[in-house]
Amino acid sequence: MKNITLEELVSYLKDVGFVYQGSEIYGGLSNTWDFGPLGVELKNNIKQAWWQKFVRESKENVGLDSAILMNKEVWVATGHIASFSDPLIDCRRCKARFRADKLVEDFSNGTVEADGMSNDELYNYLVDNKVKCPTCGATDFTPIRKFNLMFKTFQGVLEDAKSEVYLRPETAQGIFVNFKNVLRTTRKKLPFGIAQVGKSFRNEITPGNFVFRTREFEQMELEFFCKPGTELEWFNYWRKYCFDFLVSLGVKPENLRMRDHSQEELAFYSNATTDIEFLFPWGFGELWGIASRTDYDLKSHQNHSKENLEYLDPETNTKYLPYVVEPSVGVERMLLSVLFSAYDEEEVGTEDKKDVRKVLHLIPRLAPYKVAVLPLIKKVHGDKAQEIYTELSKHFSCVYDDTANIGKRYRREDQIGTPYCICVDDETLTNNTVTIRDRDTMQQVTLKLDEVVSWVENKLLF
Ligand code: ATP
Repeated sequence: MKNITLEELVSYLKDVGFVYQGSEIYGGLSNTWDFGPLGVELKNNIKQAWWQKFVRESKENVGLDSAILMNKEVWVATGHIASFSDPLIDCRRCKARFRADKLVEDFSNGTVEADGMSNDELYNYLVDNKVKCPTCGATDFTPIRKFNLMFKTFQGVLEDAKSEVYLRPETAQGIFVNFKNVLRTTRKKLPFGIAQVGKSFRNEITPGNFVFRTREFEQMELEFFCKPGTELEWFNYWRKYCFDFLVSLGVKPENLRMRDHSQEELAFYSNATTDIEFLFPWGFGELWGIASRTDYDLKSHQNHSKENLEYLDPETNTKYLPYVVEPSVGVERMLLSVLFSAYDEEEVGTEDKKDVRKVLHLIPRLAPYKVAVLPLIKKVHGDKAQEIYTELSKHFSCVYDDTANIGKRYRREDQIGTPYCICVDDETLTNNTVTIRDRDTMQQVTLKLDEVVSWVENKLLF
């Protein structure tokens, strides 16, 4: 088992076509990343797997795709305009800029929960403990300032206060403002959830660690509405559901931990929050936040919009605001945890001819290509292989490769995670059979051509 470093992973992903630096030919734009031909497939597969489990297979839930730009009042109601900010601090000597809460957490090795601390408490902690600037070692910090993380822009031709709009910093609010619409049009009864996948934007002070923290990212969020008093039961249900889902994607359970928020760390409206954390090369980091948010969001929107958002309970004939459990995860962080779990370098070959193969043990469902179609000899088997490729690619994503020798082509597919390689040879021409090589075991099976689609499709279930 190879523990790949972040730098090694980034360079490998760039080499094979998963992720490139953003705007590269112009010198790049810091902390922006573009997903290449393999990356876009993997990302889409992750989103589809989430949608499958959280919408299609969860009979209580339905989906939504709301606009990124929303009425400014949405963000007034939620408190984002007033307080969606991080504590910004500068080193006076080297001018490096930090999040004060992260400095405290790093200095205390995670033993101090800085999330719930006020700016004064953070500042005093840094001074009392003589915390040094991680860049230059000085202990001369500016006072802490609040830095709002929302990107502001203007809608329409006038650039004045009235036309100000924000890029959403989370997809969740699109769900809350549509609560009544979904309730009315689906005739759902509690409990039920609304799920959404989409881009979010945060002007992070310290983006970094590749796609772990960026200013533009994608979230997969579920707002699960339930009767007050049942929320902790549902919280535990979704907490476990999320954990199991990660494991089913191939994320190693020994690299996951559930971190429950203490009373001091809990947001004032939450009665339970757990972060599922993954052990990245730089330490444990938040992958998935699951929060029981009471009726805070619906109540804020009801108060501010003056629209009644109450639910009429048909069993008791009473009206109330439902409570909400929110599992919220970033697509890119999930992608990273999947890749760190899947990557390996293995010794292969014989005693006298040892070799190392790079291999991505992605579950077939997530693999960018499910099948590689490889003619043994291009001139002889190429036409038949093309025909097979055309047919199979109607069912799942395939790649065709007729360059280099077959061994090299197998290696190429191993390192991008293609689980099955179909070799087209003389037997195919005479008997209509193909051999399928399994990426993980490197064993081969022979199948009739007309069995291939259902054989592969079976492997894609998870
Ligand atoms: P952090 O403490 O790491 O900043 P957060 O607690 O602010 O995260 P949430 O607001 O709970 O994050 O967002 C839900 C999820 O969205 C996170 O668990 C993470 O997977 C993802 N996410 C949040 N911010 C970013 C970001 N800047 N880049 C990539 N993914 C992000």
